[in-house]
Amino acid sequence: MAQQKTLIRDAFAGLGWEVPRLLESLGQAPELYFDSISRADVPTWSTGRIALLGDAACGATIGGMGTGTAVVAAYVLAGELARARGDHRTAFARYEHTLRDYAQGCQKGGDRTGPFLAPGTATGLWVRNGLLNRRWLLNKMLDMGKQISSVDLPDYAAELPKAAAFGVVSGRVGPRGARRQR
Ligand SMILES: Cc1cc2nc3c(=O)[nH]c(=O)nc-3n(C[C@H](O)[C@H](O)[C@H](O)COP(=O)(O)OP(=O)(O)OC[C@H]3O[C@@H](n4cnc5c(N)ncnc54)[C@H](O)[C@@H]3O)c2cc1C
Repeated sequence: MAQQKTLIRDAFAGLGWEVPRLLESLGQAPELYFDSISRADVPTWSTGRIALLGDAACGATIGGMGTGTAVVAAYVLAGELARARGDHRTAFARYEHTLRDYAQGCQKGGDRTGPFLAPGTATGLWVRNGLLNRRWLLNKMLDMGKQISSVDLPDYAAELPKAAAFGVVSGRVGPRGARRQR
């Protein structure tokens, strides 16, 4: 931890604002969260009887969609297992087929978020601050996020009445409102 604290002190040395105070308090901190934001891109979401879900399958890092994607994926995985009556090979293939494109769209959003929020140059900082201070541009960015975070989902509860017992909700996930797909 001492080495990590030194790395942080060196990286932020000489900066203004609240940084000196924060660096000073670093010395007394008994715990430190020090990690990189990274993502493992996997070629397939399942092998044998094991299927990946959430970040393990398709993390979007700080794109802002990881939690939603994980919940949607859990719904589809459970629905496909029920639909395939436990035939995991069929279920896993359908699960990935249903969500791959959607998840990759979310990941693409994440690819841009890091460099935008933490640019490496003064110009990048100036551009970021300028954009974040313009309401119409912010709204446009949010709209773009909404476009890629919508996906049509099968209505497993309608197909498999017993699934309703588990409180499965179906329809379109996304900001454009619920829309059932038969
Ligand atoms: C800085 C940052 C900001 C984010 N902001 C947003 C946001 O605004 N909106 C959003 O939707 N998403 C956001 N995300 C992404 C979101 O946090 C993840 O997509 C989401 O937590 C993924 O859930 P998960 O269950 O797949 O993985 P995790 O939440 O990472 O859960 C995995 C769990 O497994 C545990 N674990 C790991 N290895 C083992 C092991 N060997 N044995 C037992 N347990 C183990 C871990 O300790 C952890 O508790 C952000 C992520 C980051 C890093």
